[in-house]
Amino acid sequence: MPLVRARCRACTLPLGDPPPTALPVRCNRCGLAAAVRVAADGQPTGLDPAFTPSRLMAWLASARVAMASGSPGVAVGACTACGSPLVVSSRDAVSLPCPHCGEAVVGSGAECLVDQWTEPWTKVEGGGLELEYRLAVIEAKSGLSAGCAVCGGPTPAGDPSSTCPRCGSITWIERNGERQQLGVRIDGIRDKRPFKVLVSIVQGESLLRGDSMRGTTGRSGSSMLSATGLGCATAVAAVVLLVLGVWIAAHFAHC
Ligand SMILES: [Zn+2]
Ligand SMILES: [Zn+2]
Ligand SMILES: [Zn+2]
Repeated sequence: MPLVRARCRACTLPLGDPPPTALPVRCNRCGLAAAVRVAADGQPTGLDPAFTPSRLMAWLASARVAMASGSPGVAVGACTACGSPLVVSSRDAVSLPCPHCGEAVVGSGAECLVDQWTEPWTKVEGGGLELEYRLAVIEAKSGLSAGCAVCGGPTPAGDPSSTCPRCGSITWIERNGERQQLGVRIDGIRDKRPFKVLVSIVQGESLLRGDSMRGTTGRSGSSMLSATGLGCATAVAAVVLLVLGVWIAAHFAHC
């Protein structure tokens, strides 16, 4: 989200006001021709960022592939048919008319659009976990690095190479004059302790897979207990019937 309300250079009114422009974007996965609504300040308006763990898992998988190819582009929303990210190339020309006077904000996708790659998030709760997962953009100038999106290998911020020596994936890209990469941030509580990490996308996917299974089992723990309790009761009843049956059979055999 832009911190300052961007204003039109021609009429000085806020660019973020309705109505938004319908930006044509084709889904790379299923081919759906979508029209994403984007305000003239570059903010896409349609994405609900509260994802389920499995939806975020798919989103992270798309980000891994996009990052490894070195062209993540600008995500502007999620496909309504298949859930995949709808992506505009960073270099594509974009024109967003001012909602008040029609004077267009013109530039490349990277300059004009507010990237949504990092907007979706999910929460994993239960089994001693209370964690939030989301993608993060890491800038090399911060000194941090998340690691290779595909193999998780180290990607030092100061490394002059932008290719992973292990698997050949792209590790850093240039955007708007900044050297960047995508990683996964996990924030919250794990086993009663604060847990805050930045990991590579592939590690983030594997942690989310494990944690969401643990969360689900932890949450349904009480119902599993009662199911086990019921199982025990049934087993005891069966044994009682069996013993009773043997006793009756023995009794009648003697008579
Ligand atoms: Zn699609
Ligand atoms: Zn204007
Ligand atoms: Zn790698």
